[in-house]
Amino acid sequence: MTDIIIIGGGPAGVSAALTAKNRGKNVKIISNSPEQSNLWKSKLIENYPGCPNVSGEGILKIFREQIDGAGIDIIGVRALNALPMGNSFSVSCGKDYFDCKALILTMGITQQTTYPGEENFLGRGVSYCATCDGMLYRGKKVAVIGLNEEAGSEAEFLRSIGCEVEFFDKSRAKKYEIRGDESVTAIVADGTEYFVDGVFILRSTIAPGSFLPGLALENAHVAVDSAMKTSINGVFAAGDCTGRPYQIARAVGQGNTAALSACEYLDKI
Ligand SMILES: Cc1cc2nc3c(=O)[nH]c(=O)nc-3n(C[C@H](O)[C@H](O)[C@H](O)COP(=O)(O)OP(=O)(O)OC[C@H]3O[C@@H](n4cnc5c(N)ncnc54)[C@H](O)[C@@H]3O)c2cc1C
Repeated sequence: MTDIIIIGGGPAGVSAALTAKNRGKNVKIISNSPEQSNLWKSKLIENYPGCPNVSGEGILKIFREQIDGAGIDIIGVRALNALPMGNSFSVSCGKDYFDCKALILTMGITQQTTYPGEENFLGRGVSYCATCDGMLYRGKKVAVIGLNEEAGSEAEFLRSIGCEVEFFDKSRAKKYEIRGDESVTAIVADGTEYFVDGVFILRSTIAPGSFLPGLALENAHVAVDSAMKTSINGVFAAGDCTGRPYQIARAVGQGNTAALSACEYLDKI
């Protein structure tokens, strides 16, 4: 079992991984591709010490080289959720599961807000993963709200297993509401109602509260103390997901603290 899994390969996650590895822990990072991160879009970073006049893409490439050089595994997928299993955690990435003793959340900010009905029907018709739940909707009608790069191929996958798919890309609708009773019965997209049995919402990120049920939040960010401990024993968080200011230097510092706290936690259990 891995000692520490880090969700997110931005500045906070990379810093946490390097520190934990230095402390002799076995570490894995699970992260979307760097191209999907907010930092990739930055043309010029002028306030991060040691890397003058670098772009977001440039600094992420330097981070990646350092992670590869340290021999740290990066699993390049979206993590869907984590479940506490007594003294460990199981992280689901769709078909694959990864177990760890401690978790560090460094998933950045999720800019999308959840849609009305989304949280209420999660697991009762709302899903974030076509690969995991598609078979449940074989022969049925589903809506796919495609907000990430893989959404088109995920919709094709659902068609290939026999689902009737109503696909909404970013240009087709802006506002959604999910309706139902025991389970989902319809989606309303920009005022038009479509009768469906399921709704797949495919974003590149997942809000921390949906990722780890029961995690305490504060103003939509993960609530942490000064040691970067969250409300769940064995779970730590760092970087933009913990609040403002959204800055690389802060994310790196917090990643370091979160890793040291996670190491201390592991040495005691
Ligand atoms: C255009 C722009 C310019 C900026 N310029 C500056 C600047 O000049 N100086 C500065 O200090 N800061 C700048 N920032 C802010 C800076 O990018 C952030 O503060 C910093 O990247 C936060 O690091 P982080 O590790 O917390 O999160 P992020 O860098 O957001 O990294 C999080 C990573 O986790 C991944 N992820 C999220 N959820 C999941 C999941 N469920 N499964 C797998 N992977 C997941 C994301 O895709 C991302 O790769 C800028 C931001 C933007 C958008």
